Amino acid sequence: MPVIRQLSEAAVNRIAAGEVVERPASAVKELIENALDAGANRVDIAYADGGKTLIRVTDDGCGIPEDQLQLALARHATSKIDGSDLLNIHSFGFRGEALPSLGAVGRLSITSRSRGATAAAMITVNGGEMSQPRPAALGQGTVVELRDLFYATPARLKFLRSDRAEVQAIGDIVRRLAMAEPFVSFTLSDISKGGVGRVTFRSDAQTGDLFDALHGRLRQILGAEFAENALLIDATREGISLTGYAALPTYSRGAAVAQFLFVNGRPVRDKLLVGALRGAYADFLSRDRHPAVALFLECAPELVDVNVHPAKAEVRFRDPGMARGLIVSALRHALAEAGHRASTTVATATLGAFQPEPSGGAPIYQMDRQSGGNIIRPSSQAPGFAEIQAQYGRVEPDDPEQISVEQSHPLGAARAQLHENYIIAQTVDGIVIVDQHAAHERLVYERLKAQMEASGVRAQALLIPEIIEFSANDCARLLAVAPELTKLGLTLEPFGGSAVCIRETPAILGRINGENMLRDILDELDDQGETSLVSERLNAILSRVACHGSIRSGRRMQADEMNALLREMEATPSSGQCNHGRPTYVELKLSDIERLFGRT
Ligand code: ADP
Ligand code: MG
Repeated sequence: MPVIRQLSEAAVNRIAAGEVVERPASAVKELIENALDAGANRVDIAYADGGKTLIRVTDDGCGIPEDQLQLALARHATSKIDGSDLLNIHSFGFRGEALPSLGAVGRLSITSRSRGATAAAMITVNGGEMSQPRPAALGQGTVVELRDLFYATPARLKFLRSDRAEVQAIGDIVRRLAMAEPFVSFTLSDISKGGVGRVTFRSDAQTGDLFDALHGRLRQILGAEFAENALLIDATREGISLTGYAALPTYSRGAAVAQFLFVNGRPVRDKLLVGALRGAYADFLSRDRHPAVALFLECAPELVDVNVHPAKAEVRFRDPGMARGLIVSALRHALAEAGHRASTTVATATLGAFQPEPSGGAPIYQMDRQSGGNIIRPSSQAPGFAEIQAQYGRVEPDDPEQISVEQSHPLGAARAQLHENYIIAQTVDGIVIVDQHAAHERLVYERLKAQMEASGVRAQALLIPEIIEFSANDCARLLAVAPELTKLGLTLEPFGGSAVCIRETPAILGRINGENMLRDILDELDDQGETSLVSERLNAILSRVACHGSIRSGRRMQADEMNALLREMEATPSSGQCNHGRPTYVELKLSDIERLFGRT
């Protein structure tokens, strides 16, 4: 017979901890939120070994009176609500679960001195066992230290990811909360053994009005480039307000890594809101580009339920359509007003892409028969038209003999170029339409891969090294992979704390926009996580790099150039799809075409 029994308090807390504390970053989040709820002006966060061995959060907030320390650690004990109205919540916390949960899965100590108290007191919990409060030394505020997270729940310990991934997640949480509270100072330090107590993030309290403060904070966290490209958003509709900054479409990212959304001051990742962002930018961005925003929705607490997710990362609006509508209309309006500004940026960038290269012209496709026929040479080394013609013969589209030769190739003989990007070729039994931009991208990628396998991608030194500003965090991430990037023909060096210097770029790409390329590489690093193999990581970065060399789109090509491209594609592995998985060409058999016209 099954026996029903009441679980012990310690077991209940461990079970609850599973929801609230998923990983070190969730513990960091709970502790910072407690500090902010306590009215702190500064919050200092330290961790060791990705937060697995130590997390310490120090604040100068109101503190916890000695006689309430034990209660603070009890389940469902909170000073933030009285339980009578769960729809009227103005603090980050309200569930009274974080501290008991942390105490159940790690070694927790709290030292605190409340305002007006003559001394500080300290209490500890180890795996659910609570000590009596005892005297301690502390000026004012609270220090919460969590050691050996999950030591009491070995199963959870096993599922933790690498220190690097945890550090990244902790950094992400700290930055999000720092955006939510621009008037509070934050520091984040890595105090792992062997380290030197490195401060990895610092943001001093901002001053001025809320918009100034937020702008200053976003500049520190997202970089000067974001701040300069950001539009101020300030709109209200039916009791909901939307404020913050949204970047021009030209400052978009390759992944949704710069979207920071807050509801009543609380960072959220909410599908509804992300969908609204997509809708707002739909006219301006292709689906694979993502807008960069930091936006704050504020409404009466009863219009939104924050109690739908244990870690409170999601919220539920009473009227979701209204929140969505406000975001879409406010952003569209701001973007339309900024249209001129945006379009000048785009125009400049586009003109830049069309500027002739110093060596006189875009890269020319060139098959290299000796090495197996899949080498594209950049224009500076390319043999030029004369040599291509020597290999393929001068192709006049109307030369019947030549066409029959070309036609016998799988991708056929080029007959026309449409809309400056689509090559129409005739094959023996059908037609082929090639997306020249996508094809070029793929060929550059394959060429880069071949170079890398052989001897490393050939680099070309820049006459004038390019210096690009990033946030300190992004700089550090780029420089951490600098040795890998060198193999890809991209040489970076530190340049002060918040800029990097590009010295060399892959020769095959010709002139590129270094900044855009580095941003894409950052996005790629975000997407990768830490699990992938080095070779896979390099290929993924190469693929992004290859996009920046794809200048073929929008360029009129001569028949012989087009044919050279087709032959190149035939000789190149997986040239049938671009680096984003889209096809580089489609083939229609005559029989298909006949069916289209109802001939068969
Ligand atoms: P909640 O935040 O949901 O109330 P917690 O378990 O996180 O629950 O905290 C329990 C209580 O302990 C809080 O309500 C608060 O009174 C007190 N507390 C926790 N951290 C701090 C802190 N850093 N400063 C002052 N009081 C704190
Ligand atoms: Mg809390």
